[in-house]
Amino acid sequence: MSLHKRSCAFCGSKNNLSREHIFPGGIIRKFEVDMLSYNDKSDTAFKSDLVVKDVCAICNNETLSEIDSNFVKLFEENMLYPLQPGNSVEFSFDYNDLLKALLKISFNSARASSDGFKAVTALRRYVPYIMGRINEPPNVLLRLLIVTSSKRFNSETSTFEGMMKAELLRSCKVNYNGSHNSNFIIRLVALNSFWFYLLIPLKSVSRSKFNSFLESYIKYNHLSGVAIDNSTNFVSIPKEMTTYMHPQLFEGMKRQRA
Ligand SMILES: [Zn+2]
Repeated sequence: MSLHKRSCAFCGSKNNLSREHIFPGGIIRKFEVDMLSYNDKSDTAFKSDLVVKDVCAICNNETLSEIDSNFVKLFEENMLYPLQPGNSVEFSFDYNDLLKALLKISFNSARASSDGFKAVTALRRYVPYIMGRINEPPNVLLRLLIVTSSKRFNSETSTFEGMMKAELLRSCKVNYNGSHNSNFIIRLVALNSFWFYLLIPLKSVSRSKFNSFLESYIKYNHLSGVAIDNSTNFVSIPKEMTTYMHPQLFEGMKRQRA
């Protein structure tokens, strides 16, 4: 067996490789120790302390830590508490800061996962953007779905039994079987009530194919959230466009080998 020395997933350096959390430490610390967190590797809860070991100290402490600190701030201002049914959302953001953070979390989580190979290959193309070597945002579609807490209903006794809180930290792939599914992958980064879906082409695709994929994706998903794009830094999401914690939401996330 040959011993490959690992190299940094972001710059290729073989020196000073360090451990990097999938989610920024500043976000993980806001959750209870037993907080549910998931990635592709497991459908069970684990302490949200999953790390990757192929990031060099320079990337970790410089560019990536700046992306993290912007994202922690956005999280603290908007996503810290699970939203209640009936809440609407006003969300201000910097598109590039947000997209970089979500791509970075997705790339880290795909590398840490046992079945994220396709995603790793697709997401690696965005490293120059994440690292600020190119400014033009990539051809990735971002959608935000607001998921509020819900009342837990016991159908046997016809009573409500407390709340199912929208309290989670999760980065995983989402299965999608609609049209053009062989050309795209879908990743979810969910932080409490803010569920960000990244629609990522596996190779370069024409705009018309992208639009046709998006159309089928929206048709396929009863609730597909609202588009977050580079043309704006603000979205207003009325309560009619939010959803709530229910088991169907998790169906597409069950582990399934490609
Ligand atoms: Zn590096």
